[in-house]
Amino acid sequence: MDYNKILEEIYKEILPFSEKGHQADYIPALAKVNPDQFGMCLKTVAGEEYSHLQADTRFSIQSITKVFALAMCLSLKGEELWKRVGKEPSGTAFNSLVQLEVEKGIPRNPFINAGAIVLSDILISSLEDPEGDFLRFIRELCDDESVDFNMEVAMSERECGYLNAAIANLLKYHGTIENDIERVLMFYFKMCSVEMSCRELARAFTAFTNCKPFDFAGFKLSQSRIKRMNAVMQTCGFYDEAGEFSYLVGLPGKSGVGGGIVAIYPMRYAVAVWSPRLNSKGNSVMGMKALELLTTATQESIF
Ligand code: GLN
Repeated sequence: MDYNKILEEIYKEILPFSEKGHQADYIPALAKVNPDQFGMCLKTVAGEEYSHLQADTRFSIQSITKVFALAMCLSLKGEELWKRVGKEPSGTAFNSLVQLEVEKGIPRNPFINAGAIVLSDILISSLEDPEGDFLRFIRELCDDESVDFNMEVAMSERECGYLNAAIANLLKYHGTIENDIERVLMFYFKMCSVEMSCRELARAFTAFTNCKPFDFAGFKLSQSRIKRMNAVMQTCGFYDEAGEFSYLVGLPGKSGVGGGIVAIYPMRYAVAVWSPRLNSKGNSVMGMKALELLTTATQESIF
């Protein structure tokens, strides 16, 4: 498969969408990002990398980080984890409060904010140095020691994070989180603030293609667990657009409001795409389109 050519052609085809959508500005630090950027990188399990345009520019991974947090929690807690957080699609926005109230503080899944705030609480309770372990884990996954939190973004989100604070309060009220709300939120915002490039994300996510044993910085997952993580990405990775992503792209994946999307073709490759302009559901317009065209051109999807 000539992925280089396919990536080039995809870019030409999505150019008419380059001014559609708006970058996230509810986190003031993200509003400063130039919205007119695009990068893409596909990495196969055999180690080949194919990239296009700004594949090496780092950006805020935001909710993509929830996949890393879930991997760590599953490694630490195993199936017990699912007592604290569900694994059903939410059909609601990533920051919705309504469902959480109705369902008495048990988040629908780990990829909405409420679910990831619970993951943050679990990591704080289980690890002596959660920040250090998180960084060690993601650095080993993408094989780059310089990947880090962006504290300006984390603080900027903290200052305006009223909705996430409301979610954390509701969780605390229902006894779903154990630690101090401030501590949990700050750790959650730090994880979201991590900056990685498409190349680094594609490298990190090849670990979730399930072609070899998963063991990074002491966090181990069986092949069966990785398979299940992919199932959760497939059904819950795009909030109230999970059905649409499944329909258009047909791969498990995860998006973030920084404009990044990562998708996995199990046993074959991971692909990351980035463009800051988002649709109304908080998913990258050009990113969704690029991945739709990729699986259409290659006929490579799980369906
Ligand atoms: N940090 C962001 C938030 O909590 C992450 C949301 C996202 O990427 N969908 O709102």
